[in-house]
Amino acid sequence: MAESLERRKARARALVRRLERTYPDARIALTFSNPLELLVATILAAQCTDERVNQVTQGLFKKYRTAEAYAKADLAALEREVYSTGFFKAKARAIIGMAKDLVAKHGGQVPRSLGELTALPGVGRKTANVVLGNAYGQPAIAVDTHVFRVSQRLGLAKSEDPEKVHDQLCQVIARAKWTRVSHLLTTHGRRVCTARSPACPDCPVLALCPWPGKTRAFA
Ligand code: SF4
Repeated sequence: MAESLERRKARARALVRRLERTYPDARIALTFSNPLELLVATILAAQCTDERVNQVTQGLFKKYRTAEAYAKADLAALEREVYSTGFFKAKARAIIGMAKDLVAKHGGQVPRSLGELTALPGVGRKTANVVLGNAYGQPAIAVDTHVFRVSQRLGLAKSEDPEKVHDQLCQVIARAKWTRVSHLLTTHGRRVCTARSPACPDCPVLALCPWPGKTRAFA
């Protein structure tokens, strides 16, 4: 029998409680000190590890301190500076385009609404939600690859479309936990519920997980 929405919400509450106890250190791994830095770091984090992005932004954030600075950046120079994060041409173009829009339409400031953020070049819903949740303290679920995979294994969402997964998670997770749950599911996906070989026998939420493909302990 399909799980009712009410039962899924109750299970989601229990899952979040258990994950909070297991990963009290779960937090965003990108280094930033203001919304602009987080926006740039999140654009660079597409298809790249957070560790690599943090290495690259160490120098980048010293050189470019404002949206105006990025807007005036030399494209070839910025491409070289972000080269090691991959897709460097597209990322450099996106950062400069985004910064030009910030200067032209937002007085050089990073806006605080989903609509305004996603209207910026190179900024999708996930990036916008990372900024809203972590730089502005607004409840927001960012569906990265880990959140996408783990939430489906846990039966909290079911779709091939990350936007639908986002909306389904918002339905079953209490609003106050939206940002936190992104960190918890990402951390769980990195440490235990990995893509290729989830450590189900050692999983802290094993009893709450309905995924039929769970791995078993060897006898
Ligand atoms: S039991 Fe396995 S599949 Fe389910 S959440 Fe834990 S590690 Fe992931």
